[in-house]
Amino acid sequence: MNFDYDVAIVGAGPIGSALAYELAKEDFSVCLIDKKKVIGLPLQCAGIINKSVLDNIQIPEDLIINKVKGAYLHSKNQSFSVSKEDDQALIIDRVALDQYLYNRAIGSGADSHLSSKVVNVDTLEGKVVFQTDSKEKTIKSKVIVGADGPLSLVSSAIGNDFKYYCASQYLVEVDNVREMSFVDLYAYEDIFPGFIWVIPAYKNIFRIGLFSGHDYKMQNEILDDFLKNDFKYDDYNVIEKYRGKIPIYNNENKLFEHRALIIGDAAAQVKPTTGGGLQIGFKTVQIAKNAIINALNSKGILENDSKILQDIFKNYQKDFEEKFLKEISYQFKVQKTLCTLSDDDLDYFFIKLKEKQCDELISEYGDIDDQSVLVKEFLKRGLVLSVLPAIHKKELAKIWLL
Ligand SMILES: Cc1cc2nc3c(=O)[nH]c(=O)nc-3n(C[C@H](O)[C@H](O)[C@H](O)COP(=O)(O)OP(=O)(O)OC[C@H]3O[C@@H](n4cnc5c(N)ncnc54)[C@H](O)[C@@H]3O)c2cc1C
Repeated sequence: MNFDYDVAIVGAGPIGSALAYELAKEDFSVCLIDKKKVIGLPLQCAGIINKSVLDNIQIPEDLIINKVKGAYLHSKNQSFSVSKEDDQALIIDRVALDQYLYNRAIGSGADSHLSSKVVNVDTLEGKVVFQTDSKEKTIKSKVIVGADGPLSLVSSAIGNDFKYYCASQYLVEVDNVREMSFVDLYAYEDIFPGFIWVIPAYKNIFRIGLFSGHDYKMQNEILDDFLKNDFKYDDYNVIEKYRGKIPIYNNENKLFEHRALIIGDAAAQVKPTTGGGLQIGFKTVQIAKNAIINALNSKGILENDSKILQDIFKNYQKDFEEKFLKEISYQFKVQKTLCTLSDDDLDYFFIKLKEKQCDELISEYGDIDDQSVLVKEFLKRGLVLSVLPAIHKKELAKIWLL
């Protein structure tokens, strides 16, 4: 059997490009295919990452455009802050990050086809069909990776059913900025299971957005209303508006079939509460890389429908689930808990958190990506029931098996 490449990666977003680099530097032949003409555009990200992301991916210092120490958390009428001495999160230039990762992959020997929309994949034969300049081309590769984002064609080809939230974001310029080292997060009943974020990006520029169960039109109305009534600055100017999708993790979906596996947003590998996909995606690159290298070195790689290959890719799914499923299910429970609360309940919750000095606990144990540590601490100290209105006791007991 003749193959054009060892690995064809559909999607040169951050996760596809990071994986292409890892495989190309081990001398495997890799091809990145993306429908975009210019990688990274349009911006579809708030660009906030936990600084621990740097343990998995080295990025040039100049891609970090701000560092934040903590967050102000707001309900309709209450707020409190959580912070640590050191910077907790990094704000990155997301467009430049995508371009950096793409160029790094190409620099390591990966081929690429831009302005090339993949329209079909044959996961059994390893065929990838894409359209470019109204011509259709087909390449054949031993492994196909779907890193093609929330509306993944490869995930569909595998037979997955997927859901997502809409997300909208404004780039906002502010006069007389007072503070650039805290993010603001707004928890409102009509936005759950999502929230509104205000991220200080650089100079006097903020990224202000939300994800929620609403469509884009309604989200823009919510953001306009927020800026008018709740934003802490009066003099501001909306420079640009963006939109995107946040996939919802579904543990019934398969992460592989025949010669194909999926990763990143294509596999809905995002944190349910924040919608963040970069940390989990970069960590999964290492798991996928090992699985793909095992597959390429196995005898089964030349046979279609090989059991050896399926066992290797089964382990990719198993390793992913072992590493992340517990955290994901904790975060779904946090979401479920928040969805039981009205704006009044949230005010009560925030008052109780302050009374019981939970701000200190949150500052100590809180982590935007690994929230189960904090949740476990709340459960251990019996705080879940004592900070939430008694009226929800039964529901909460059911969610948390108390
Ligand atoms: C508004 C918003 C704010 C966000 N903020 C944050 C944040 O602050 N922190 C964080 O960690 N995460 C955030 N996320 C999530 C984060 O952006 C994603 O998790 C991340 O982009 C996933 O990377 P990826 O490479 O898997 O997919 P993507 O970035 O979606 O890349 C997929 C690539 O595949 C290409 N593609 C798709 N279909 C095809 C096709 N048929 N043929 C060829 N190419 C194709 C696309 O053009 C794209 O380049 C946010 C998301 C949104 C929508």
